[in-house]
Amino acid sequence: KSGFVSIVGRPNVGKSTFLNRVVGQKIAIMSDKAQTTRNKIQGIYTTKEEQIIFIDTPGIHKPRHRLGDFMVDSALSSFKGVEVILLMVNATEKRGPGDNFIIEKLKDSSTPVFLVINKIDEVHPDKLFAIIEDYKTTMDYAEIVPISAKEGNNVQTLLAQVKKYL
Ligand code: GDP
Ligand code: MG
Repeated sequence: KSGFVSIVGRPNVGKSTFLNRVVGQKIAIMSDKAQTTRNKIQGIYTTKEEQIIFIDTPGIHKPRHRLGDFMVDSALSSFKGVEVILLMVNATEKRGPGDNFIIEKLKDSSTPVFLVINKIDEVHPDKLFAIIEDYKTTMDYAEIVPISAKEGNNVQTLLAQVKKYL
C-alpha cells in the first residue's frame, strides 16, 4: 500500500519534529520557480508493507496579500490528491485564529482529516480531554490522535491509523 499525506498546522506546532521522527528518506526541496506553489515531498516513510509520502502544502495560513489568497487556493486544490490530511495542533496552547483559519479551509474537504494533537508530554490528561472536546465542536475529524512528536508517544499508533486510509 502507498499513499500521500499532507501535514498542515500553524508554525511551531511540531510538524518538522514529527517528520524528522517518522521519515527515513528525505527529498531535497526543489528551488525551481515552477515548483514554488506546488506540493513538495518532505519525506517518505517506508516499511515492507507500505509507503507513506508526506507532502508540504505551502500557503495554508491567513493570507496578508492577494497573492496569499492564490497560495491558499492552490494549497486547497492540492489536498484533492492526498489520502489523508493531518491537521497538527499544539496541546500546550489554546485553539486560536491560526488554527481556526485552517479548520475553516478543511471542514468541507472530502479527504479525511485527522486531528493530531501534539506536545502531549507537556499537558495534564484533564487538559488534553478538554482540548479534544473543544476541537470536536469545530468539524468532524476522521480520527483524533494525541501524540508527542518529541518523545515519540503514540506516533506508531498515528501511522497505523493513517495506513487504514491508504
Ligand atoms: P513546525 O514549525 O510546526 O515545523 O514546528 P517544529 O517541529 O519546528 O517544532 C517547534 C518547537 O516545538 C520546537 O522547539 C520543538 O522542539 C517543539 N516540539 C515539537 N514537538 C514537540 C513535542 O511533542 N513536545 C514538546 N514538548 N515540544 C515539541
Ligand atoms: Mg517546520
